[in-house]
Amino acid sequence: MRAAVYYGPRDIRLEEAPVPVPGTGEVLVEVLRSGLCGTDVTEWVAGPKLIPLHRRHPHSGHQGPMIPGHEMVGRVVESDSPDLPPGTLVAGAASVPCWDCDRCREGRTNICQRLYSLGLNAPGSHAEYVAGPARSFVPLPEGLSIDAAGIAQPLAVGVHAARRAGARPGDCVVLFGAGAIGSFVLSGLRHLVSGLHVTVVDVDASKLERAARLGADVTVDGRSDLSHLEGADLVIEAAGVPELLTRATELVRPGGRVLAVGMPARRAEIDVHHLVFNEITLDTTVALTITEDLPAALELLQATNLADELVDSVRPLDAIPATLDEMAAGKVAGKVLIDPRL
Ligand SMILES: [Zn+2]
Ligand SMILES: [Zn+2]
Repeated sequence: MRAAVYYGPRDIRLEEAPVPVPGTGEVLVEVLRSGLCGTDVTEWVAGPKLIPLHRRHPHSGHQGPMIPGHEMVGRVVESDSPDLPPGTLVAGAASVPCWDCDRCREGRTNICQRLYSLGLNAPGSHAEYVAGPARSFVPLPEGLSIDAAGIAQPLAVGVHAARRAGARPGDCVVLFGAGAIGSFVLSGLRHLVSGLHVTVVDVDASKLERAARLGADVTVDGRSDLSHLEGADLVIEAAGVPELLTRATELVRPGGRVLAVGMPARRAEIDVHHLVFNEITLDTTVALTITEDLPAALELLQATNLADELVDSVRPLDAIPATLDEMAAGKVAGKVLIDPRL
């Protein structure tokens, strides 16, 4: 099969690779769409550095050549699971939890201590075929387009963040970041909780315009004075800028909540005295749960036209290096989906 193989920073080669052989309880999936993500960009620019989880898994290290791609939609062609017979269209969660530990039993598969991920610690979907446990895939709802399903995995990350945010109807919410992640969080919030007043802050005017179309009540240029946002019930940092996490703790009202979504490259400075004195809750969110967030994201995509707003283009495998360069330069606003059959 044709595959985009990662050798190191700025070195991805289009190669012939053997079609993976599915094991017990696994499916072989013909890839129809494979999304490019900020994580792909990080690995392209700086090498694999995601999450200490990597060290805990035999596939870890990610040193040698590997097929990336963790946002996948495809058709099951071989199956060792009665739940997903051949022909089933599926979206992949990418994450492979143990399903057996205390956290997995709670449904919190995203923080399983034995978790690994297709496309990050094991071969992923930037190829014609991908294999993985059937339990890491969810069937598509009837009639959902392949392009829309192509953003289900990152949208599920936004849905998870929105659930973790604990917003209540009527809450005044400030969201830092209108990029891909911010957009997915905004969409999740809009569809999970009614009556929110959401202000989105970013420095990019076109991203703010998109945020308005996705349901932001107010958009604010991040370079302006933000003090009028003081008193928010909930402030979400989805830009990955450490100073904004600090700012979030300053803008939230006493008794309010701050949610850290972004992964800052540097440490954020937090005034614990201010947090304690005002009983401010600082919470975090990571990735998605397979059984709850991924089906919710698929439903949301079927009920809305989010995909029209968030899918940038569909490109062939050999476009990956140039696209990652474009993304690293901040020139792509939406999601680029790879169709390995092109
Ligand atoms: Zn991703
Ligand atoms: Zn587990």
